[in-house]
Amino acid sequence: MSTYVKNGEATKIVLIGGGHCHALTLKALAERPEPGIALTLISPEPTAPYTGMLPGFVAGHYQREDLEIDLETLAERAGARLILDRALGVDRESRTVLLHDNAPEPYDLLSINIGISSQLAGVPALAEHVIPAKPLGRLAERWTTFLGRAKLLDRPPALCVIGGGVGGIELAMAMAWRLRREGLWNRGGAQAVLTLVERGDALLPSGPQALRRRLIGALERAGVRLLLGHEATGADAGSVRLRAMASGQDTVLPSDFTVATAGARPQAWLAQTGLALHDGFIAVGPTLQSVDDGAIFAVGDCAHMTHAPREKAGVYAVRQAPVLTENLRRLARSAEPGAELMPYTPQSDYLKLITTGGREAIASKWGLALRSHLSWRIKDRIDRAFMRSLEG
Ligand SMILES: Cc1cc2nc3c(=O)[nH]c(=O)nc-3n(C[C@H](O)[C@H](O)[C@H](O)COP(=O)(O)OP(=O)(O)OC[C@H]3O[C@@H](n4cnc5c(N)ncnc54)[C@H](O)[C@@H]3O)c2cc1C
Repeated sequence: MSTYVKNGEATKIVLIGGGHCHALTLKALAERPEPGIALTLISPEPTAPYTGMLPGFVAGHYQREDLEIDLETLAERAGARLILDRALGVDRESRTVLLHDNAPEPYDLLSINIGISSQLAGVPALAEHVIPAKPLGRLAERWTTFLGRAKLLDRPPALCVIGGGVGGIELAMAMAWRLRREGLWNRGGAQAVLTLVERGDALLPSGPQALRRRLIGALERAGVRLLLGHEATGADAGSVRLRAMASGQDTVLPSDFTVATAGARPQAWLAQTGLALHDGFIAVGPTLQSVDDGAIFAVGDCAHMTHAPREKAGVYAVRQAPVLTENLRRLARSAEPGAELMPYTPQSDYLKLITTGGREAIASKWGLALRSHLSWRIKDRIDRAFMRSLEG
């Protein structure tokens, strides 16, 4: 395993991606600057969306700026150089990050927090006509344009959400809620058709039964049609092509607006780094370092915690931040390789708060699930407090 050895100069710490963990690391380093480091953030955009509030934005409860994390300001406060670019690779031999538009960026310590790629695999027609849930900018613009266009139609719109994970479920109900609020659900005696398409033959198969029941009930109440056992194979401006997983039969669904949360895959370039991967995600140990390169950390959705595998969720990215920050500090201070680092132990369960379109949410923990307005208010408070905490 390669390790970091301090050479007497400022330690070059490069953060790739402005994910939730890096945003909090920047905040911590702004509050308590670490002497002897030269910090760089690489991010394609000066802001990053807080996805926990994305369904609330689609439903119309939040404005776009409510869920935008201001990376530029965070970087400035932390004394970090911000490179607006996309990382394309890491050359571990020369210890540089390869960038799309800029010269390779050298590092002593590297941390990767780039989330997942939500491009639907290998189907160009899907890429063109299906809007991924992230990045926020494209979804926000297309959703606003769509709402305007839908008002000009002489029929209710048809919409499709591809991917029946928590994100897809929340987005589908948020869209249904917004269509009703805008008076677009019922038009000329007909109703909008909003379909949630899931490849698997059950919704959240590894989740508790009580949650599944509540979610199915909530989708029904929202008027969302659930189509299990189907995958999207193509799309054009007015429809989505689906294939039944069991029979292989093709169907075409009319869709004026198609959004996808499916296709959550690791970014392809990670495979070329030579780092140990698990299903394409960077394999890290308890200290959040790559299992075979001590100079490289990985956090959030792009990492696989070999010591405690968990589903992908923003909550882990957030909780990893103090450990990542402390370990970067310790390594930067230490003159010897192999400084003692802090371990991260993720909680085994956490309170899931799943919004149902309106100002209600389903709270789920310990195998129980309860829908209430109070749950929504708690989630709203947590989310707003998180965003406020990043404002400084
Ligand atoms: C609709 C929806 C709702 C959700 N709700 C919740 C919720 O309520 N609670 C919860 O815990 N989880 C939720 N999730 C999951 C949550 O969004 C993710 O788990 C979380 O965003 C992961 O955070 P992250 O820090 O790993 O990366 P991300 O938040 O994905 O951030 C990655 C950042 O890296 C940047 N980046 C990407 N590629 C590169 C590159 N090559 N070079 C440089 N920068 C790059 C991106 O621009 C982005 O800013 C939701 C997901 C969706 C889709």
